Amino acid sequence: MKTDVLIAGCGCAGLYCALQLPDDKQIVILAKGEVTQSDSFLAQGGICMLKDESDYDAYFEDTMRAGHYENNPDSVEVMIRSSQDTIGDLIRYGVNFHREADGSLSFTREGAHSAKRILFHEDITGKEITGRLLEQAKGRHNITILEHCAMLDIVCRDNNCYGVVAHSKDSGLFIIEAKDTVFACGGIGGLYRHSTNYRQLTGDGVAVALLHGIAVEHINYVQIHPTTLYTEQEGERSFLISESVRGEGAVLYNAQKERFVDELLPRDVLTKKIQEQMQKDGMPYVWLSMEHIPREEITGHFPNIVGHCKKKGYDVFHECIPVVPAQHYFMGGIKADLSGRTSMEHLYAIGETACNGVHGRNRLASNSLLESLVFAKRAAKDIAKGQATYRKKIPQMDLSGYQNMQALAQYYKKRVLDEIERLEHHE
Ligand SMILES: Cc1cc2nc3c(=O)[nH]c(=O)nc-3n(C[C@H](O)[C@H](O)[C@H](O)COP(=O)(O)OP(=O)(O)OC[C@H]3O[C@@H](n4cnc5c(N)ncnc54)[C@H](O)[C@@H]3O)c2cc1C
Repeated sequence: MKTDVLIAGCGCAGLYCALQLPDDKQIVILAKGEVTQSDSFLAQGGICMLKDESDYDAYFEDTMRAGHYENNPDSVEVMIRSSQDTIGDLIRYGVNFHREADGSLSFTREGAHSAKRILFHEDITGKEITGRLLEQAKGRHNITILEHCAMLDIVCRDNNCYGVVAHSKDSGLFIIEAKDTVFACGGIGGLYRHSTNYRQLTGDGVAVALLHGIAVEHINYVQIHPTTLYTEQEGERSFLISESVRGEGAVLYNAQKERFVDELLPRDVLTKKIQEQMQKDGMPYVWLSMEHIPREEITGHFPNIVGHCKKKGYDVFHECIPVVPAQHYFMGGIKADLSGRTSMEHLYAIGETACNGVHGRNRLASNSLLESLVFAKRAAKDIAKGQATYRKKIPQMDLSGYQNMQALAQYYKKRVLDEIERLEHHE
């Protein structure tokens, strides 16, 4: 198969990048599972936007403080400055954000934000955004989406990327030749026992990068979300209880149902406090109470959370729910510049797979959808500029080494986890 641009990943980053490319470019997008099985569909809380100039300094500072000042300030500036343009695109694509009675956009707040600057759609913001992007992409004649089709490796020579080795159930192993390749493969939660991520998100892009010596950065910066619904079921994806629930006033209790912490601390700090409390209590969870938030506020803003808890046997209006920290987000990744370029020519990385330094050591809530979209658009613009001068001939490839997919997946998993452990040990 030949195409102008191959995008491995069908979450908000991959889809938005495709939509921002000129429509005379042929684009192929791969989704490892079903098109709706991306973390982008799971985002609950919302997406940040710079409301007006008066919030710029505070928004910048909140992002840097949450990231322990290890963020790349240029990336943070680009993200914040591009936020209104990005939200404008989303609204034009039909995304419905919650609005006030006068029709203006509503803003909510989450942990470690000093102001309300988060746009939302009930508690299914990611589904609303990514669903609309998917609708748009399906309507474009130049975009082909291949479901259940995984990128296994890249085709490369002399630090140039020529496309990917892919596998689908129907077609088996095949090569997709592309002038430019974009990794938008999401996070690494599938490598962990407890994670809020889809299980098939196993850091494949990062594994391939490590294999070929493509620069990666901070891949041991892994965010644990402080509050997911406790479950005893092995292998079940952890259900997130969004930070906005705490932003709206939910409180955390220890085993004696006493409050033990400021619920709006940055995620990494709060996670540590919860883990310490669980140890003190000798319990595998702590309690979260929404009982004193007005009922209409809970049902209006968090219907998905209420429904899920109900399915699991909890009535959030009258009782506490058990919550526990779980792997949630990957701040590190394939090193990318402000246009999503990696250290390999014609290979880009965007979204959670990439590390452009926006998040530093710890991500501020609701910055990741925004970051994914802002840098996806910048990558698209860069690709469009570069393709006019494209001249390459793809090298020959022997596919026999890819036959044992399970062994390959195990090898990739081990490669990424070993590297994370090595870095942790080193630090
Ligand atoms: C429960 C939950 C709640 C969240 N809430 C928020 C929130 O409120 N606000 C916010 O800003 N962020 C939130 N996030 C984070 C945010 O959703 C993600 O960081 C963001 O959506 C990442 O987008 P992405 O496009 O990079 O990756 P994803 O949306 O995860 O998409 C990855 C895509 O890559 C594909 N893929 C993976 N490997 C391969 C491969 N080898 N070959 C081909 N395709 C592959 C997958 O199939 C998928 O299509 C949340 C995350 C979770 C899990």
